[in-house]
Amino acid sequence: MSSTLKSTLHPATLAAQANGLLDDGTGGVVPPIHPSTTFVRGEDYAPVVEGNVYSRSAAPNGRMVEGVLAQLEGAQDAMVFPSGMAAVAAVFRTLPSGATVLVQSQIYWGTTAWIRDFCTRRSITLIEVEASNSDVFAAACRAHKPALAWIETPSNPWLRIVDISACAQAVHAAKGVLVADMTTATPVLTRALDFGADIVMHSATKGLNGHSDVLAGALSAADEGSEMWQAIRMDRDMAGAVLGPFEAWLLLRGMRTLPLRVERMSSNAQTLAEYLSDHPAVEAVLYPGLPTHVGHELAQQQMKGGFGPLLSFVVKGEAKAALAAVARLKLFHRATSLGGVESLVEHRHTIEPHTGIPEGLLRLSVGIEDGGDLMDDLGQALGQ
Ligand code: PLP
Repeated sequence: MSSTLKSTLHPATLAAQANGLLDDGTGGVVPPIHPSTTFVRGEDYAPVVEGNVYSRSAAPNGRMVEGVLAQLEGAQDAMVFPSGMAAVAAVFRTLPSGATVLVQSQIYWGTTAWIRDFCTRRSITLIEVEASNSDVFAAACRAHKPALAWIETPSNPWLRIVDISACAQAVHAAKGVLVADMTTATPVLTRALDFGADIVMHSATKGLNGHSDVLAGALSAADEGSEMWQAIRMDRDMAGAVLGPFEAWLLLRGMRTLPLRVERMSSNAQTLAEYLSDHPAVEAVLYPGLPTHVGHELAQQQMKGGFGPLLSFVVKGEAKAALAAVARLKLFHRATSLGGVESLVEHRHTIEPHTGIPEGLLRLSVGIEDGGDLMDDLGQALGQ
């Protein structure tokens, strides 16, 4: 009964219908959870269901969510992992010792910290560059000929916008592979493979799942036959960084409403960014949807239908004033993470004090609540 939907359908249709998945056993409109770790073989010793042997190599719920994600990304193949960082690690583990990698500076701190440590241990040369400057990025590619380049757009928490096509051209000219962390944008706003990236990475913990109740990661590939993709598949299979069936099922359920949630989060974030831009207690607002943002024009070309849930702003009066405002917020939860239905606020300088984050910077993950209620909450916290 289940059938794959036409790839020409719009993301809202593909997501809401989970790419045509049904419960074949009962006719239910929701696919079941398959907890089995092992699968029987027939008398001829062939697997009774092709591909189902042992769930570390391939598991039904993982495959379901991978199928839907590949459709949304326009990818040939996708793989899910037990966290976003497990997906990051799966990519870097394919590199041989002695390789050179180019990584965008000032991206998600957890990614930077892990990559630095990994590259040191593996004798991999790590070059960090400001990738939102395409000329600087291209010059670094020419000079260092990296095997892999890693970008994140919009970046977390600086909201820098990187020209994916320009980066892809520069890395490909150096015979390297471009991987883009598109966690903030999700495939609803940007399909990075369409702009020339080879692999897209997501912390599926964030917008893809959207309900702050699953830790997961994902990779999607333009070319499933590529050497790197095959190496990642073998590494996941053998080293075992697999997503459990319940988490995969929950992730698929979350993804059914992805386009709707992204639309609402983006329009709320846009409203708040405009409101904060005019607020006397605010020094600066970082949001690519604002015409004053340095990457606005590029974001308009790369992001379709909005600019995402992530927005940072700098409160006048440094850390003291920022933390006082945070303490007064009633609707925004004081918690890390992003892309969930509920709005969150974070004082990043407390988390990463030595990375140049302004002391007054607050990062918002804007949820799907009523935009007016969120604005009122920020207003009372900042002092109208
Ligand atoms: N990439 C980005 C942009 C993130 O924001 C995060 C987490 O905050 C990660 C990767 C890591 O994902 P996870 O926390 O699911 O391991």
